[in-house]
Amino acid sequence: MSDLIPAINISADQWTIADAEKVYGVSNWGGGYFKIGANGNVHVIPDQQQSSMKIDFSSVIKEIREENIQFPVVIRFHDILRSQVMNLNESFNSVIEEANYKGTYKGVYPIKVNQMREVVEEIVDAGAPYDFGLEAGSKPELLAVLAYNTNENALTILNGYKDEEFIRLALLGRKLGRKVVVVIEKYSELLMLVKISKELNIEPIVGIRSKMRAKGQGRWQGSSGDKAKFGLTVAEVIKSARYLEAQGMGHTLKLLHFHIGSQLPDIRAIKDAVNESARIYAELHKMGFKLEYVDVGGGLGIDYDGSQSTNDSSRNYSVREYVADVVYGLREMCDLENVPHPHIVSESGRALTAHHSCVITEVVGEIKPEGASISTELIEGEHILLSNMRALLVGMDDNINLQETFNDASQWKEQAAEAFKLRVIGLEELAKIETLYWQILRDVQTRSAEKTFTPEYTNVLDSTLSSQYLCNFSVFQSAVDSWAIGQLLPVVPLTGLDTPPVKNCSLVDITCDSDGKIDQFVIDHATSSVLPMPAVSEDEKCYLGLFLTGAYQDVMGDMHNLFGRLNEVHIFSHDDDPEDFYIEEIIKGTTVEEVLSIMQYHPRSMALDMKRLIDKQVANGKIRPREGVKWTDFYEDCLSGYTYLNTD
Ligand SMILES: *Cc1c(COP(=O)(O)O)cnc(C)c1O
Repeated sequence: MSDLIPAINISADQWTIADAEKVYGVSNWGGGYFKIGANGNVHVIPDQQQSSMKIDFSSVIKEIREENIQFPVVIRFHDILRSQVMNLNESFNSVIEEANYKGTYKGVYPIKVNQMREVVEEIVDAGAPYDFGLEAGSKPELLAVLAYNTNENALTILNGYKDEEFIRLALLGRKLGRKVVVVIEKYSELLMLVKISKELNIEPIVGIRSKMRAKGQGRWQGSSGDKAKFGLTVAEVIKSARYLEAQGMGHTLKLLHFHIGSQLPDIRAIKDAVNESARIYAELHKMGFKLEYVDVGGGLGIDYDGSQSTNDSSRNYSVREYVADVVYGLREMCDLENVPHPHIVSESGRALTAHHSCVITEVVGEIKPEGASISTELIEGEHILLSNMRALLVGMDDNINLQETFNDASQWKEQAAEAFKLRVIGLEELAKIETLYWQILRDVQTRSAEKTFTPEYTNVLDSTLSSQYLCNFSVFQSAVDSWAIGQLLPVVPLTGLDTPPVKNCSLVDITCDSDGKIDQFVIDHATSSVLPMPAVSEDEKCYLGLFLTGAYQDVMGDMHNLFGRLNEVHIFSHDDDPEDFYIEEIIKGTTVEEVLSIMQYHPRSMALDMKRLIDKQVANGKIRPREGVKWTDFYEDCLSGYTYLNTD
C-alpha cells in the first residue's frame, strides 16, 4: 500500500454516511459488530442474532461521564465475545456435518491472548454447550486454567516449555477427571512426563507438537521450519512414539499439534499445514499409534485494515473458508490414507477476542506545525531572505504557479535556518520568516483545494500542515503492537461523522517518548499517515475509538512512564433498556500508588515524608498552616488517583 493521503473533497451538503463509511472503512474491519449510524456516531451491534439492538457510542460515553469514570477507558462488549465463540463453534459444527466428517470439533481458547478473568469466564460460559476448552502456555496460565476449565468433556491443552511442577499440575488435572493434554515441545519433556506419571501412577494424555515444513506468511513465519522455537522434527516424533510404546504407554499418545504462527494472512499456508499434519497423523496411525486428535493451533487472522488481502494486518479468507479448509483438508487425506477422521482441535485466540474490546481516548490538545505566529511587519534594514519571503506571500494571486511557490518557500526556509546558524540573521528574523512560510503553505493549500485536479505536491503539503492531536492514553499500554511491530489498528472519531472531515491529523500519546504516536491509518482503502477529523466545537470533547484491541493489546501493554492499566467498563446489551445496554461492571484502572509500589516505592511512607517536609515549611513560616494541610491532602489525593491526565 502507498502512503497516499486521500484527498476528501466533498462539500457538507453532499456528504453522506456512505462517504464516512468509505473514508473510515468501519464495515470492512468491523466484523458486523460496528457501523456508522445515521446520526454520524459509531454504533455497536453486539449480538448479530439481534441486529435491531444498537448501542450508540455517544450514549456509552455519556454514561461513563455520569459515573465519573475518567478517560481513557477500555470498553468490553461481552456479547461480542459470546458471539465470536458461538460463530467459531457453529462454523466447525456445520462444516463437519456438511462434509460428513466423522470426528467432532473440540476447540480451546489460548488464554495468553487475553488472560483477564472476566474474558476467560465469558468464553468458558459461552463455550459450555460446545465443550469448548482452554489452552495454557505457562505455569501461571496452567494454574488459572485448572481452576476455570471444570468441564470434564472439554480439553485442556498445555503448550510451552515445562518443568516438573508444570507436569505435576497437569497430572493433578487428570486426577480431577479432566482431559488435560500435555503437548511435548521438546524430547526431554517426554522423559520427564513418563517418569513423573509412573511415579504418581497417573496416566497422562500425550500430545506432540510437530515442526512443520509449511510456512505461514506474515510476522510470525518463524513459527515453522527447521529453526522453529517449538516442536519436534519428524525423527523426534517417531522417536517419541516409540519411546512411549517401549514404556508401555503407546496408547497415551492421543494428539498431534502444530502452530505455524499467529495472524496468517494467506489461506494457502493453512491448507499446506493441514495437509502436512494429516499425512503425519495418518503415518503414525499406520505405525499403530491410534491418535484421536489433530490440533491445528492458532493463526486464524483478523482483517485489521479491512482489505481482505495478504497484507500483514489482513487475511484473504473468511472464518468459514478457514474452517472448510481444515475440515475438508483432513477428510481428504484421511480418506486417501484409509484412516479414521480425527477429532479437530483449534486454538484460535485472536479471532475470538480482537473485536470485543476497544479503547476510548479523548483529544486533549492540538500541536500545530506552525505553533504561534508573530508580527511580520517590515523593519528598515531587514535581511533580504525575509523580504523575499514576504514578497512571496503578498504576491500570491489566482494565476500564480503553486508548485513553484511551494518549492521557493520551502527552500528559503531551509536557507534561513542555515543563515541563523552562521549568525547572518537573528532570532526575530528567523521567527518572522517561519511565520511567513506557514502562512504561504496554508494559502497554497487553500488555493490547491479549489483546483479541479490534485497537484503533485498536495500530499507532502497535507502531511506537512497536519496537526498532531494529543490523546490521553499511552501507546505502550493500550496499542503496544502498533509500536512494536507496526500493526495497524483501526482508529475512528466516535461522533460527528455526519459532516465531512475538516482537517487531517496524526495522533500522539502522553508519554515522554517520541515513539508514542500513531501515524498509520487505513483511510479509503489506502494506508495514510493522517486521520481525517470532523469539526469539533470548542465546548465539546472529541473522543476517538481505538478498535480491535481485545487480542494481545489488552494484556501485553507495559507501564512506560508509569502509566498503568486503564479503567474498564463492561457492557451488556439489553433489549428492554432504552439505550439497549447497561454497564455491568466497572473495574478501576491502576492507581499511582499501585504503579509506584510495583517499582518498589513505599507510597504511604512517601506521603508521610511529604507531610513532614510541608510541616517543616509551616514551622519556618514559609507556608501558612491552612495551606499546608491542603498541600498534604493534594499529594495524597494524587497518589490514590488515576495515572492518566485528569481532564475534568
Ligand atoms: C499464540 C498461540 C496461539 C494463539 O494464536 P492466535 O493466532 O491468536 O489464534 C495458539 N496456539 C499456540 C501454540 C500459540 O502459541
